[in-house]
Amino acid sequence: MTADEMAELYALARDPATAWMDYAVCPETDGDVFFAEDDGRGTTPRARAICRGCPVIAECLQWALDHGELGVWGGTTETDRKRMKRKPKTAAVLELAA
Ligand code: SF4
Repeated sequence: MTADEMAELYALARDPATAWMDYAVCPETDGDVFFAEDDGRGTTPRARAICRGCPVIAECLQWALDHGELGVWGGTTETDRKRMKRKPKTAAVLELAA
């Protein structure tokens, strides 16, 4: 993640609608793993593992679903989220919890 992208995220975190971002753990990590194509070296699994330890994973996932974000958000990739949007909400949540 670039410095400009980080600054944008921090600005969003000051908005009450995005206050959950204050609790995100990803700004303290290598942000590149959240936006890299999975190159077969475990980039996406590393991002997912970070998300699993994040206290705002549900809020983050909802934000990404609502805003069409790119990269890994809420432990999901863009492909995961496209798949979730095509399924009834209950099925998508059950799949995420599995
Ligand atoms: S769930 Fe993942 S992408 Fe979302 S705020 Fe937490 S660490 Fe960052």
